[in-house]
Amino acid sequence: MASAFPGSERCSICNELLTDPADHMGVGRITDDHSDPLHAHNHAHFHRTCLAVWPRLSGLIEDLERLNAEARGEDDKIYRTVMDLVTLRAKAA
Ligand SMILES: [Zn+2]
Repeated sequence: MASAFPGSERCSICNELLTDPADHMGVGRITDDHSDPLHAHNHAHFHRTCLAVWPRLSGLIEDLERLNAEARGEDDKIYRTVMDLVTLRAKAA
């Protein structure tokens, strides 16, 4: 695990350091499949405020929902990440 948070991780959207735990979201390991577009987001960290206005947020949610369906509920971490992102998007709308 590469996490000495706070202060050592950078936001995948704005590339600034993440210093506020309340404005942080990490997605952890998403997939080992290198051909999956989600592989690029493995262990990504974000500002919640950046995610909320990120044009690709809906695409990320759709990809994670697909992965969640494929996992058939065996990986509830993905499900929780999806729910977290959906809530974030709803609040930003
Ligand atoms: Zn950011």
